[in-house]
Amino acid sequence: MEYDTIKYKIWTWKNPIMLHWIVNPGLAFNELVLGQRVPKIMLIERDASKNLQEKTFVPCPHCGILHSGQKWSIGNNAFKNWFGLYCDACGKIIPCLRNLMSLALMLLTYPVWYWLKDSRKSRWLAKQPARYKDLNLTDQPNPYEGKGWIREGLYWGLIMYIMMTFFFPLIDGSGITLKNILVGIPIWAVGGVGFGYSMKLILGKSRVRSQKS
Ligand SMILES: [Zn+2]
Repeated sequence: MEYDTIKYKIWTWKNPIMLHWIVNPGLAFNELVLGQRVPKIMLIERDASKNLQEKTFVPCPHCGILHSGQKWSIGNNAFKNWFGLYCDACGKIIPCLRNLMSLALMLLTYPVWYWLKDSRKSRWLAKQPARYKDLNLTDQPNPYEGKGWIREGLYWGLIMYIMMTFFFPLIDGSGITLKNILVGIPIWAVGGVGFGYSMKLILGKSRVRSQKS
């Protein structure tokens, strides 16, 4: 598809924020568990009077429609998009980036989910039209805004820390070790703050919150 590069900046995997989505291993949690996905192509309107949320558009390569990025904001359908972003205009799926860690995990667990994927996907697809009715596409507060990204990021880091240090070692039998307990603290604190900051950048500034402060 051709895009109007005078009106829009085109974000692909080469954009640093998009690249971060691919390489940060912790984001596999967001993709595989929460079902949060980032489309392969985002268009950012060159309009300084609008905030990033309002400027973001997601093109559907199947029908060519430009969706408001707000459809996938936290208040709308940010999560449960395991099979990609659903286009409510043509009913097809908008291709998304794939985080490398989640790709690796999917390849490793391939025999487990492969037989289920078609039935899961058709059930998921059947649920989508209802999710896109009555969306609120007006500007909404972003929990990562202001200093919120630090709190949200550390909270995410804490969940990852518990999963990686206690939960997974119990499941795979490698055991919980004092070394991992100690080493995990700085790793997930830094990882969490990095995650929070990138979410702040991805989700952008909302006018609702900025007017209040
Ligand atoms: Zn479409």
